[in-house]
Amino acid sequence: MPDPRVQELVELDRRHVWHPYGPMPGRTEPLVVESASGVRLRLADGGEELVDGMSSWWSAIHGYNHPVLNDAVRGQLDRMSHVMFGGLTHEPAVRLAKRLVDISPEGLEHVFLADSGSVSVEVAIKMCLQHWRSVGRPAKQRLLTWRGGYHGDTWQPMSVCDPDGGMHELWSGALPKQVFADAPPAQYEESYADHLREVITRHADELAAVIVEPVVQGAGGMRFHSPAYLRVLREVCDEQDVLLVFDEIATGFGRTGTLFAAEHAGVTPDVMCVGKALTGGYMTMAATLCTARVADGISRGEVPVLAHGPTFMGNPLAAAVSCASIDLLLAQDWQTEVKRIESGLREGLAAASDVPGVVDVRVLGAIGVIQLDHQVDGAAATDVLRREGVWLRPFRDLIYTMPPYITGDEDVARICRAAAAAAAAG
Ligand code: PMP
Repeated sequence: MPDPRVQELVELDRRHVWHPYGPMPGRTEPLVVESASGVRLRLADGGEELVDGMSSWWSAIHGYNHPVLNDAVRGQLDRMSHVMFGGLTHEPAVRLAKRLVDISPEGLEHVFLADSGSVSVEVAIKMCLQHWRSVGRPAKQRLLTWRGGYHGDTWQPMSVCDPDGGMHELWSGALPKQVFADAPPAQYEESYADHLREVITRHADELAAVIVEPVVQGAGGMRFHSPAYLRVLREVCDEQDVLLVFDEIATGFGRTGTLFAAEHAGVTPDVMCVGKALTGGYMTMAATLCTARVADGISRGEVPVLAHGPTFMGNPLAAAVSCASIDLLLAQDWQTEVKRIESGLREGLAAASDVPGVVDVRVLGAIGVIQLDHQVDGAAATDVLRREGVWLRPFRDLIYTMPPYITGDEDVARICRAAAAAAAAG
């Protein structure tokens, strides 16, 4: 018998609640989660448990209900859950900023705490445009990115998402017109490096910045590319006086096997965004880091301030849990854990290559992707995955996973079996 309370929740949800990229009223029934612990989500109806292969969209790297993170939130809650950040400061925010400066690529020195990944990208863009205005080059106000990217759902980030076939195609006429290079190939090709050089050089006078996701393009298609392209971008941006922004919101905090994906290339961007796993998936917070050069430029301008200051900026609860999450990560041999998951994914997903309709299987760090030659039927895939005891959220032609780093070998194998079964089911 279905639980009437759960039935009521589902019905009210359908009638009143927007879900990500969803219609109103909703057309599919979301699963109701009652609680989550370790790598398992516990559903409300009957207590069914699913292994979470999504880390709640890249964020819950330590799993759910972690005692250390719980303590950090509780401890902070007893002191204060929030105070405004204008004119006030507090230990969690200051300590978090210092940790971010310490662990991020050398040269990033200043930190703006934002309330979501998209807002941190807005802030990054504002920093770049304002820098050029302040140093007397106001014509530099366009952005360049490569196709296949994703940077968030607010207005400026949408303008640098992939313009074709992505989630924001509807807005192509209304968004600021940015400059798009071709999508980066997986392997290094000199001709593509030349293409990047050519297009950046051609537009340099009007470009404030180049913005890319380093090494892994996430929500735009789960594609990986050679880190060598990041060195090309750094070199051309320096030559042509264009700022370089890395969006590490998905890749940050170890996901690709290095703490930040920029480290694969040994490159420091001028501005870097982090989010998602920053709080260990506990609540929303992101950060925009920049170099002294960018901050000095802004501070020398006619309006020498960065005019951005959200109400919940630097939220103490989020900052405290972020500090705890970073400390927890660094206190363990996380590289070995990510490598262990990488091997498990390689081994477990290999069989999917032989499934009819599968065109590619790829793994990098704790990220595994099965690409099909057709769109995945989301509802049918969810049913198959659920029967296998796994939660994944396929999109477009992709069934993919980025599990919490604490996922044991058996659960990694289970995620792989489920993903392959979902691929086979079409
Ligand atoms: N940039 C990247 C690379 C992302 O993956 C995302 C989220 N999927 C964002 C920006 C936007 O972050 P948020 O959803 O927290 O606004």
